[in-house]
Amino acid sequence: MIKFDRVVKQFGDLTVLNQLSFDVDPGERVTLIGPSGSGKTTILRLLMTLEHVTPQRDPKSDGGVIYVEGKPFSHMPKGDKLVPAKERYLRQVRKKVGMVFQQFNLFPNMKVLRNVTEGPVHALGLSRDEAAEKAKSLLELVGLSDKLDNYPSQLSGGQQQRVAIARALAMSPDILLLDEVTSALDPELVADVLAVLRDIANSTSITMLLVTHEMSFARDVSNRVMMFDRGVIVEEGGPDQMFSDPQEARTQDFLKAVL
Ligand code: ADP
Repeated sequence: MIKFDRVVKQFGDLTVLNQLSFDVDPGERVTLIGPSGSGKTTILRLLMTLEHVTPQRDPKSDGGVIYVEGKPFSHMPKGDKLVPAKERYLRQVRKKVGMVFQQFNLFPNMKVLRNVTEGPVHALGLSRDEAAEKAKSLLELVGLSDKLDNYPSQLSGGQQQRVAIARALAMSPDILLLDEVTSALDPELVADVLAVLRDIANSTSITMLLVTHEMSFARDVSNRVMMFDRGVIVEEGGPDQMFSDPQEARTQDFLKAVL
């Protein structure tokens, strides 16, 4: 489903991802853990095409190729070569990926239902009615059927985050990226959001990549945990092994600090 092949990402002199290679199989749920600044969010942003590994300004700065569903994602094929992807190609590939951010990023001037229908209508070409039908069933899934006509500002943070989850799923992505989705929430609102995500993980085969500090949630939903430090994977394994019996000192230290 996802392949990073020797990906290098630099910001100025800082190498954020250093010859990073990994694969994610369809339906896998992978949690990325590691200290702040280790490159986790950059991986998600690359998969949302919010960052690029093709040299944009400095040809020496970036390298490697990202594939999604076996097709180049960071680049586009031209003959037998891979060249930097054009915006139109990126628009196509990005439809496979949905992302939920720490800050919900809802459209403040649109009601809840409209927040969820806007993408499918404009990017997928669904009719307003089709999009509304789909949005209503997703808003039911996240427990917000009674909030269709509210504006985001009238909702709690947890409810807004659940709208954001419904909005990401409305695009029918094959991959769902979750970046610290509970970090901006008051503690009493975290459980509802995690319950919705657990439901989605249990009831769909969507591939998930998550960055979270909620280790019990990570343990519950993921098949694999990858520990990052300075842009490389220092250790990976199943959640039970990673959380109960980490082998590397850096993983042990990190888990000691967060658990
Ligand atoms: P993590 O998610 O593991 O905390 P990030 O991927 O957010 O790490 O960031 C890795 C490093 O890259 C950090 O040092 C961060 O400051 C830096 N960084 C991220 N995005 C940019 C950017 N657009 N410009 C410059 N530096 C950035």
